[in-house]
Amino acid sequence: MSLSKNLIVYIVVVVTLACNFNQNKMETSTLHLVFQEQKEPFSPSEKELIYEYLRDSEKEVRSLLPYLPDSIQVAFEIVDWNLESVGGVTGRAESNSPPLVLIQISNTFQGGISAAIQTGLKSTVYHEFHHLARGWAIKDNTFGPGIDIAMVNEGLAEVFAEYYTGEVYEANQMPSDVNASDWVNEILALSKDANYYEWMFEHPDGRNSVGYRTGNYLIKKVMETSGKTILELSELSPEEIIRLAGY
Ligand SMILES: [Zn+2]
Repeated sequence: MSLSKNLIVYIVVVVTLACNFNQNKMETSTLHLVFQEQKEPFSPSEKELIYEYLRDSEKEVRSLLPYLPDSIQVAFEIVDWNLESVGGVTGRAESNSPPLVLIQISNTFQGGISAAIQTGLKSTVYHEFHHLARGWAIKDNTFGPGIDIAMVNEGLAEVFAEYYTGEVYEANQMPSDVNASDWVNEILALSKDANYYEWMFEHPDGRNSVGYRTGNYLIKKVMETSGKTILELSELSPEEIIRLAGY
């Protein structure tokens, strides 16, 4: 009886371990990492590296933004996209409830996947976790529509990540030959249903990341003129921030 009982316990433990292995999850009390490996698997050392970066970054971000949700799922996948200009890693805050972030790591990055993890993962996590702390997520966004709102929320996340990780990407900065205020005014004059993809990614006139670059500029300008820190600004509404910027 006791032997068969032990056998059952043994089988349950083995099956549970096998399931966990299949699910490819790693977790802490507030983080659940998921590896999506349908297209390409991560090596055990890449997973370990990702886990270490996430565990440390989450702890740091939580100390800065205490209203970060309690239990965050982060799903990773390997992609063949060219992410050279942003350190080999990109991501998005998919939903607030449940808190879910999707992160893509490029296998074409110079130096490979481990190099991408070491170069771009930390700033991506800071950026996306800032979105979660603020409620700026794709599926259940807590803000209204408008490129002006996207500009402020993306600008806050970019400057937060730049300030605390030291990683600054040219692709997110205002071009030096542009009168930055013109781009802010252009965005503020847009209708609420202006094309999100064009203004945030590829504009038909040849510009890219207009909303991101302008947001980055705007937040730094407000920090300079108001004397407020990025953490203080992160608690204000987009409207208050635009007003503080003098527009
Ligand atoms: Zn973002």
